[in-house]
Amino acid sequence: MTTSHVEEKKSRVEVAYLSLRYAIIEQALEPGTKLPEDAIGSVFEMSRTLAREVLTKLQYDGLVEVKRKRSATVARPSLTEAQEVFGVRKCLERAVVRQICERWSKVMEEELEKHIRAEDDAIKADNNALSIRLAGEFHIRLAELSGNSLLKKYVDEVVSRCSLILALYARPHSSQCAVTEHRELIKAFSAKDVPRALELMNEHLGAVEQRAMIPGTATKKLDLCDVIQKYAGQIDHA
Ligand SMILES: [Zn+2]
Repeated sequence: MTTSHVEEKKSRVEVAYLSLRYAIIEQALEPGTKLPEDAIGSVFEMSRTLAREVLTKLQYDGLVEVKRKRSATVARPSLTEAQEVFGVRKCLERAVVRQICERWSKVMEEELEKHIRAEDDAIKADNNALSIRLAGEFHIRLAELSGNSLLKKYVDEVVSRCSLILALYARPHSSQCAVTEHRELIKAFSAKDVPRALELMNEHLGAVEQRAMIPGTATKKLDLCDVIQKYAGQIDHA
């Protein structure tokens, strides 16, 4: 096989992985939705083996569950698991806050402000799906800026799982975060005020958790192939 064949194969796996990841995080695919290998294979024009590779990556992120007979579904965390996720998330993000305050720079401030402006724009444009994803990505970016790659990896995983929890237990299409609260956090980082930043992060995540635990009534009936096809098109043109 030539190098270009390998690269093409690789990028198809990447497109399929990102399409499904965004569709799940943006709550376009509900927890519990079946993800058959052959359906994924036909949308992304790949073998079942490659489709399985994509599902394994998503399973590793905590977004997909693979049960007996290799039948994969969008993960459906129980209420206990949801509480555990929030517990771990609070601990991790406290560590992020401490590191961020220590390393704070003008460049970080500018970058995070740009991110918040994008969050604002998504809300103004009424783009709920994007707004849900950007809210989560704010926290992932913070973890990345902490300079600890392991912290980033774990925060990425819990934030993604929180999206599933919101999809399951909150009102349909609830975003994780209030943008005003993100803005307040940046002010505290800027002042290198660790106690204030910790307090704000605690309150912020407490509010996210509260929003997540409102009983929801999600009753979407969407076609799996339609949803992932839409996402695949967006990622291909990104
Ligand atoms: Zn937030």
